[in-house]
Amino acid sequence: MRAVRVRRHGGLDALVWEDMPDPVPGPTEVLVRVRACGVNHLDLWVRRGVPGHEFPLPLIPGCDIAGEVAGMGEAVAGVELGSKVLVAPGFGCGRCEPCSLGNDHLCRHYGIMGETRDGGYAPWVVVPARLLLDLPEGLSFEEGAAFPLAFLTAWHMLVVRAEVQPGERVLVQAAGSGVGSAAVQIACLLGARVIATAGTDAKLERAAELGAEDTINYNEADFPEEVSRLTNKRGVDVVVEHVGQATWDGSVRCLAKGGRLVTCGATTGPVGDLHLPRLFFKSLSILGSTMGSRGELHRIVQLMEQRKLHPVVDRVLDLEEVREAHRILEDREAFGKIVLRPSS
Ligand code: ZN
Repeated sequence: MRAVRVRRHGGLDALVWEDMPDPVPGPTEVLVRVRACGVNHLDLWVRRGVPGHEFPLPLIPGCDIAGEVAGMGEAVAGVELGSKVLVAPGFGCGRCEPCSLGNDHLCRHYGIMGETRDGGYAPWVVVPARLLLDLPEGLSFEEGAAFPLAFLTAWHMLVVRAEVQPGERVLVQAAGSGVGSAAVQIACLLGARVIATAGTDAKLERAAELGAEDTINYNEADFPEEVSRLTNKRGVDVVVEHVGQATWDGSVRCLAKGGRLVTCGATTGPVGDLHLPRLFFKSLSILGSTMGSRGELHRIVQLMEQRKLHPVVDRVLDLEEVREAHRILEDREAFGKIVLRPSS
């Protein structure tokens, strides 16, 4: 097959087409014909590299995969050839204590498709059979590939880590991102009142359509001041943070007493200062979060089928346009997800 691989970290030209043998499933694995693959910030890190972290190069990126079962190993049971599936992006060892407790994302050996093994920037991919979920009824492959990682991340942040309650005020940073557009929907589903930030008025309109009650253009207004004004100087109960260095201090200042900041990313830089008296005098909680359990993903699939949550697809591009897809994501031109479609 011809697939997109990263052989050396770098710019857009580090995404190269390579001919390689078709993947063959092992005894407990399934061969999936990739119909759509979502693009995530994770893919940018895989392409660019992360200081101090070693990726198993060469590697096919892509962790949000939707497709059809095209083959399977001899030990796989209960999977039908031709069935339409999603692939859970992350996987634990399945044996350790966190895995046994259903917290596979806390497994010491946790891996992610397209980061620790070949992913979906290809016409075919081999995945462990236990990662398969049914494509939600009524969703296209493109919609199916647009939600697993982003919604799982946002769900775990809001439901499990921050434990958002009905009526609480939630600030969602960068609501046009995959995680942001998921977080707005999930916070609204939980009965919270959402303030969304974004860099353009067009994105703010989309965030309002997803349920945000108030919106802030962070290029035009000082967002902590705006939050203070919108909440009558009280602040918000929860901040959904994934921007990092550029917004960190402001995000902490937006918190009400007893507020929780939950973060899953640092796209603008890895360091954030913390004024310690602010932390203890205001009884704040700073919560880290990454991915979520496979059980949570099953719940998200149910809510997608019930039309209570909706994938947000910015655009669908042919896999041939993978470099353009990365450029759009890097330049923050998208609202929601960019999805790649391998040629059939
Ligand atoms: Zn484990």
